[in-house]
Amino acid sequence: MDTVSLRGRVESLIHAHSRDYVPDIRKSGFSCARCGWCCRENFSIRITEDILRPSNAISIFPDDIRRIMKGTGLKWDDVAQPDIYSCLSDGDNIYAIGWLLRRNDAGECVFYRDDACTIYEFRPMICRCYPFFMGERGVEVMHCEGPRKVLAKESAERMALVLKRYEIKKLRSYISIMAQLGDKLSFANLRMLPRGYEGEVFVCDGERISVQRL
Ligand code: SF4
Ligand code: SF4
Repeated sequence: MDTVSLRGRVESLIHAHSRDYVPDIRKSGFSCARCGWCCRENFSIRITEDILRPSNAISIFPDDIRRIMKGTGLKWDDVAQPDIYSCLSDGDNIYAIGWLLRRNDAGECVFYRDDACTIYEFRPMICRCYPFFMGERGVEVMHCEGPRKVLAKESAERMALVLKRYEIKKLRSYISIMAQLGDKLSFANLRMLPRGYEGEVFVCDGERISVQRL
């Protein structure tokens, strides 16, 4: 997708009423029962021949990281790691497209402990939206292990608003990252870093380009 169509999508979302998403959210019957299934690595998704992305490799915004840091007192690197599943190389340097919520050696979100999210109040926007996301045809639902029950109208309205805000933020973030990467950005050039990779990675997150040593 190019920046012109992304900007068009942002504009149409800004003028959309989040309440229009409420019927689909309620009809799905999903609401989060905090079972933690989506916080753990359950399967991998084949993105390209070279990229196998764990189901819980969760992309987060710099704002998410700052909110978690403020709420927990943790440092940036305790919260986030470069997105090693979305990398590009220009021959000299490696560029990671954004940040992932940090995962432990078992492949779980580091904030999932004793069967619960320990940062529920500060959790990333994407976690607040799960299992919903905005697809081409409107609200869609990802796999969810929670029991089905009709969500109360007020809860569905809150979810619809969060979903709309998340989608706008995500698209704006894409636009900024595309500007940072320029010609280097191409789907055909996307790679994941090999397990145990050691070296420098430039992380482009739409706000700044920072150097991380893995
Ligand atoms: S932040 Fe919380 S809700 Fe999000 S993946 Fe981690 S444990 Fe799960
Ligand atoms: S799988 Fe569904 S019910 Fe379980 S934590 Fe994730 S969103 Fe909540």
